Amino acid sequence: MQTEIAAHVLNKCSSNGSLLNKEEIIEVLSWQDEALLERLFQIADDIRKNQCGDDVHLRALIEFSNHCSRNCLYCGIRRGNKKLERYRMTPDEIVDTAVKACSAGFKTIVLQSGEDTWFAADKVSWIVKAIKDRAGCAITLCIGERTLAEYEVMKKAGADRYLIKYETANPDLYHALHPEMDYENRINILLWLKEMGYQVGGGNMVGLPGQTLEDLADDIILARKLNLDMMGIGPFIPHSETPLHDFPGGDLKMVLKTVAVSRIVTLNSHIPATTATGTIDAEGRQKALRCGANVIMPNLTPAKYRKLYEIYPGKKCSDEEPGRCAGCIKTMVKSMGRNIAPDYGHSLKN
Ligand code: SF4
Repeated sequence: MQTEIAAHVLNKCSSNGSLLNKEEIIEVLSWQDEALLERLFQIADDIRKNQCGDDVHLRALIEFSNHCSRNCLYCGIRRGNKKLERYRMTPDEIVDTAVKACSAGFKTIVLQSGEDTWFAADKVSWIVKAIKDRAGCAITLCIGERTLAEYEVMKKAGADRYLIKYETANPDLYHALHPEMDYENRINILLWLKEMGYQVGGGNMVGLPGQTLEDLADDIILARKLNLDMMGIGPFIPHSETPLHDFPGGDLKMVLKTVAVSRIVTLNSHIPATTATGTIDAEGRQKALRCGANVIMPNLTPAKYRKLYEIYPGKKCSDEEPGRCAGCIKTMVKSMGRNIAPDYGHSLKN
């Protein structure tokens, strides 16, 4: 049922949604009424179309090491998981995989790993430069917390973007979930990266134990405040080999509401339909693409390593050959009447 406040908020979403305040965002996130949500998702989809167009940007993901020195409570590759077989791709193997992905038409390569100091900044820089020289694609790094000097070296080597999610904007919840890590440092890193000229991606998890609607509203407001170029939103999915194994996972409807409000508030940030969203619902990525998302990250990690990069269980497409996964995503995008973007898909922010 559309109450007076719901009518007011919907109206603001379509006229000047980027100005939604915290109370209004909480109001939207609390909605359960299907008709209201349908209207909300339509507004988010219209804004996506106006601000970003119909192109879906594909980012080829290469998970090159599952070693991690951190112990985040929700993560299956945390150092405390002694049951996990660890791997590192060699620098040559990473470069070859990336070049192959570019030859298959991908314009962006995302190099992702746990926090693995074996891959020091000079090694990562060598890899970035080798990929740039051979393939000329855009490169996103997602390798965790490093020093300012290391970020600078890797930027100089040619890295275009850096993805480092904050997962929650509630400092207490952040500290509870991330032993030995510091919320303020995380936010400072995002600011440094921006200053250095990286296109910066952050984002949050939905359904974390102890998370409230107020926290989720703060996550979205933080993305606006940081003027993020990209924002990744996915559900918490409990992993059996973590301390959070008994908690319920995040729910699809809340993920979709968060994606929609993030689109309405950030206007033109790149927002992926995440693999985690496709993992909790077979149609999850398509649904996210219909309520504000404009990016998909097909997994191009060689098949023999894929299952070992298990940050959460049941990861969609982890059994498939890389080529098949990419083909399936291209078909899905086209079947929705959207286009695969022909360009690099750089930031749409000023
Ligand atoms: S979330 Fe990232 S930093 Fe934390 S344990 Fe997992 S891979 Fe390591």
